[in-house]
Amino acid sequence: AANERESMYLVSEYARDYFHKTMLNSEQGKAIGLSYFKERGFTAATIEKFQLGYNPDQWDAFTSEAIRQGYKLDYLEKTGLSIVKEEKQFDRFKGRVMFPIHSMSGRVLGFGGRILDSSKKAAKYLNSPESDIYHKSKVLYGIYYAKQAIAKEDNCYLVEGYTDVIQMFQSGIENVVSSSGTALTPEQIRLINRLTKNITVLFDGDAAGQRAALRGIDLILEQGMNVKVCSFPEGEDPDSFSRKHSKEEIVAFFDENAKDFIQYKANLLVEEAAGDPVKKADTVRDMVESISKIPDAIKQEIYVQECARIMEVSETVLYNTLAQILKKDK
Ligand code: ATP
Ligand code: MN
Ligand code: MN
Ligand code: MN
Repeated sequence: AANERESMYLVSEYARDYFHKTMLNSEQGKAIGLSYFKERGFTAATIEKFQLGYNPDQWDAFTSEAIRQGYKLDYLEKTGLSIVKEEKQFDRFKGRVMFPIHSMSGRVLGFGGRILDSSKKAAKYLNSPESDIYHKSKVLYGIYYAKQAIAKEDNCYLVEGYTDVIQMFQSGIENVVSSSGTALTPEQIRLINRLTKNITVLFDGDAAGQRAALRGIDLILEQGMNVKVCSFPEGEDPDSFSRKHSKEEIVAFFDENAKDFIQYKANLLVEEAAGDPVKKADTVRDMVESISKIPDAIKQEIYVQECARIMEVSETVLYNTLAQILKKDK
């Protein structure tokens, strides 16, 4: 029900304030949480803007305080902020720095929590569970802060993680959002589609990032949007890269390296399998698969020509392959 969801928003917003104040005002918060973010190069203004926080490694400090403040355990549990087990209640997020996740309109839907000591066995990031207010497949981290810049720049940078969004924002590039931990979904792309038709995918310079970028391409094309992909040097992500460069250098790097999806796929082949005819055939087929997702026939034709030119195959064979794929998909 609507008032139940409102109660869940309110307790989430209380938690956001609690984690934020705990980080800025408590001794542990300053020594551990705040210094972690400072070490990552986040300024006080950035920490304020994104309402970053910290919850110390304690059993139930947050949950108990929330209940003392009059929040109902039921909603603490429904939002996943607290866990109830054998009549005991405790905090889900312990010893983690906290990233509040906002809706398009700025309500708090949930949290991502990052562990500080990466030598621990626990998952690096822990997220709020799915709930009546937090539908992971329909949320993009940063969209609340980025929406105006996306519309103004008529382009959206899509990154993998929370810190990528924040670091780019701090560098002065504000049209950036992240799928944060879930594989990109059609609903997430639809959120961007309302603001711009252009997406530049900036995934990590590792095998996982490359796989994620490739998966994302077809989903973006299916919605009639334009997609470019910018690769990072091995081991870099938008966060680490932005930290080392000025806004001008970052934008110049994107301008130079963001490739249209067809060129991006072609380049992968050159890197992986130069001179291998079987791999080349696979790549061409893969490119035509992507082209088949484009709803606009004129754009399809332009990409067929582009693909033929780059891969040195005839347009005729590409059109035949395209026709086969389209027939199969029906
Ligand atoms: P950091 O720079 O803090 O190490 P990152 O954002 O570079 O983090 P990646 O390993 O590149 O982290 O992962 C990208 C994103 O995927 C994260 O920001 C997070 O949203 C999500 N993620 C990563 N690891 C996990 C995990 N173990 N469980 C859930 N989500 C995760
Ligand atoms: Mn990664
Ligand atoms: Mn990363
Ligand atoms: Mn990173």
